Amino acid sequence: MNIVQIPAFTDNYFWLMFEDNEKSAVVVDPGDSAPVIKSLKDNNLELTDILITHHHNDHIGGVSELKKVFPKVNIFGPSDPRIPADNIVKNEDIIKLDSLNEEFRVLDVRGHTNSHIAYYFDKKLFCGDTLFSCGCGRLFEGTYEDMHKALTKIKNLPKETLIYCAHEYTLDNIGFAKLLDPNNHDLIAREEEVKKILKEGGYSVPSVLENELKINPFLRFDHKDVISSVQNHFNLKLNKESEIFKYTRQWKDNEYD
Ligand code: ZN
Ligand code: FE
Repeated sequence: MNIVQIPAFTDNYFWLMFEDNEKSAVVVDPGDSAPVIKSLKDNNLELTDILITHHHNDHIGGVSELKKVFPKVNIFGPSDPRIPADNIVKNEDIIKLDSLNEEFRVLDVRGHTNSHIAYYFDKKLFCGDTLFSCGCGRLFEGTYEDMHKALTKIKNLPKETLIYCAHEYTLDNIGFAKLLDPNNHDLIAREEEVKKILKEGGYSVPSVLENELKINPFLRFDHKDVISSVQNHFNLKLNKESEIFKYTRQWKDNEYD
């Protein structure tokens, strides 16, 4: 299985997948058609399937044009009138695509939006704008409880899972994480690593879940350092993990960017 990273706009990533010696390909979250068409041409592929995580335009903006170029393409997505899917999928559905020798498991990860889903197979997670490296998506529609539940679901995947998120936000996210978790050596090591990767023109994602558990404040709502940092910042005594998550998110929303 090949997974090609397609950078688009200023900081988006679309993901193209295809098997060796096959002509058909699958793309996740094509927010724009031109870079997808170019990548298909470069690899001598036809687009057979589109997987959509959520309705934001930087994730679906290329779908109608791709459908014109590849009229037989199958479009998978959650039930949401804002999403042009012809195959509606829901939590724990298994998707078998003709073009790939893999089965994808659908996970309901609502929070960033009300119908956000993720696709999981073989220790790889395509999670759109739910989890980023060292960060998580803003809550445009869901509740803090929704997002805490979604992140807990991701947290419980195998620790080797690769996180194929949709944006290169890592360095900025690390800046916030350092405010909250200043003594975290893994975080400082990740900052050095990411700076080097970006300087060399590379990408900081996919990241590995095991490392995210060590550095991502939005997955560390059960860690004593994060708990005490958040409680001190807001001068509150918080009893639930979902509340630690909520105030961590609010801290970033209100005072960071
Ligand atoms: Zn989004
Ligand atoms: Fe996005």
